[in-house]
Amino acid sequence: MSNDRTFLIVGASLAGAKAAETLRAEGFDGRVILIGAEDERPYERPPLSKDYLRGEVDRERVYVHPKDFYAERDIDLRLGRTAVSLNTAARELALDDGERLRYDRLLLTVGAEPHRLSISGGELEGVLYLRSVADSDALRERLDRGGAVVVIGAGWIGAEVAASARQRGLEVTVIDPLSVPLERVLGTEVGAVYRDIHVDHGVRMLMGTGVEAFEGGAAVERVRTTDGREFECDFVVVGVGVQPRTGLAAQAGLAVDNGILVDEHLEAGTPGVFAAGDAANAHHPFYDERIRVEHWANALHQGPVAARAMLGEPDVYDRLPYFFSDQYDVGMEYAGFARAWDRVVFRGDPATREFIAFWLSGDRVVAGMNVNVWDVTDAIQRLIRQGVSVDDRRLADPDVSLEDLVPADAGSMA
Ligand SMILES: Cc1cc2nc3c(=O)[nH]c(=O)nc-3n(C[C@H](O)[C@H](O)[C@H](O)COP(=O)(O)OP(=O)(O)OC[C@H]3O[C@@H](n4cnc5c(N)ncnc54)[C@H](O)[C@@H]3O)c2cc1C
Repeated sequence: MSNDRTFLIVGASLAGAKAAETLRAEGFDGRVILIGAEDERPYERPPLSKDYLRGEVDRERVYVHPKDFYAERDIDLRLGRTAVSLNTAARELALDDGERLRYDRLLLTVGAEPHRLSISGGELEGVLYLRSVADSDALRERLDRGGAVVVIGAGWIGAEVAASARQRGLEVTVIDPLSVPLERVLGTEVGAVYRDIHVDHGVRMLMGTGVEAFEGGAAVERVRTTDGREFECDFVVVGVGVQPRTGLAAQAGLAVDNGILVDEHLEAGTPGVFAAGDAANAHHPFYDERIRVEHWANALHQGPVAARAMLGEPDVYDRLPYFFSDQYDVGMEYAGFARAWDRVVFRGDPATREFIAFWLSGDRVVAGMNVNVWDVTDAIQRLIRQGVSVDDRRLADPDVSLEDLVPADAGSMA
C-alpha cells in the first residue's frame, strides 16, 4: 500500500474517530488527518444528557479514546479547526485558518446540529440547546443552581434532560405540540408509557401545546404557550430535533438530500468522497431505500465501514437501526425502523416498566423495544431481519422464548 497518500476525515467525533482507528488497524500507513471544529478530542454524546450532565461521571469517561491514542497511531488530530470549503475536482479542502489540504480520500463525519427555535425571545440568555460537551457543562451549571426549567420538545433529548433535571431536584415542565412524548418514533401507545413515567416523577407534561414566545428582560423569565398560558422559569432547554450538517457538501456540489447521499458502502457519488454517521443518508440494503440514522450505534459502526471503503475494501453497511435511552431508572433499547405499523403487541405489562413492545405490520415485526428487560435485542433484530411470520399471542407470551419464534438457522444480525 502506498504510504504517500493522504486520507482526510472532517468531523472529529465518534464516526470520525472510529474511522481513523480503523484505517490504522487495517494497516494504512499514509497520512491520516482528523479535523474537528471543537476543541475537544473525539467524545461520545449520550452521557451529555444523562450521567455526565448530572455530574455523576467525569470528563474522562466521555472520550472515545485515551489522550495519547491519536499520537501513538500517527493520526494527525487537528482540533479547533473548521473545514470551510471543498473542491472535489482538485481534491482540496480549505480550513478556516487558510490552510489547504490535498487529499486522496475524504470522509465527511460532520454530524448534525440542533434545530433552532426562531420565535420571539429565542435569543434571550438562558435559552439553551444541548449538542456539545460545552453545552452540557453550561446546562449542568444551571442544574447545580436549581430552580425551574421549561423543556421545549419531548423527543429523546428533551425527555432525557427532563429526567436528569428532575433527578437533580429541579421543577420541570415539558411542552410539546404532539399528544405524548416520543410520539413520532414510538406512537401514542408507547409514548403514553413515557408520559406516565415522567408524570410519576413529578414532571408537568404539557402535551398538545406549542410554544409561542420566550419572555424576559436580559434573560428568559417565562414561556408563553400557543394556548395563552405562561410558565415562570429560570431557564429553558430546547430539544426540537437536529438537522444534518450538509453545508460543506452542498457547496462542493455533492448530492445532498436530508444528509449527504451515499451508497451502502458509504461512498458518495463523487470520486474519493465518503460520509458516515448523523450526516450521512445511506442506502440501506435491508430497507432498499436511503435512511439517515441519528444514533450512537450508527456512528460507531459506520465509521469503520467508511474506512474500509476508503481503503478500497468495501463492506456493506446493513445493520438495523438501534438506539438506547435511559430516563430515571428506566433503560431501553429500540431496534428496527418503523415508519408505519398497524398495531403494537406488548410482552409484559407496560405499567410495571419491564416489558417488550413490538410494532407489527401485518404478521411481521418491524421494530421492537425492550424496557428494563435485557439480552433480547439480538433476538428482536433476528425477528425483524428474518421477516418471521409471528402470532400475536405467542409474541405476547413471556413463556414462549423469543428464540423459539426465530428459525434456528438465523444468525446474529445485531
Ligand atoms: C445529548 C445527546 C444525547 C444522546 N444520547 C443518545 C443515546 O442515548 N442513544 C443514542 O443512540 N444516541 C444518542 N445521541 C446521538 C448520538 O450522540 C449521535 O448519533 C452521534 O453523536 C453522531 O456522531 P457523528 O460522529 O456522526 O457526529 P457528531 O457527534 O455530530 O459529530 C460531528 C463533529 O463534526 C464536527 N464538524 C462539523 N462540521 C465541521 C467542519 N466543517 N469542520 C470540522 N469539524 C466539523 C462537529 O463539531 C462535531 O464535533 C445523543 C446525542 C446527544 C447530543
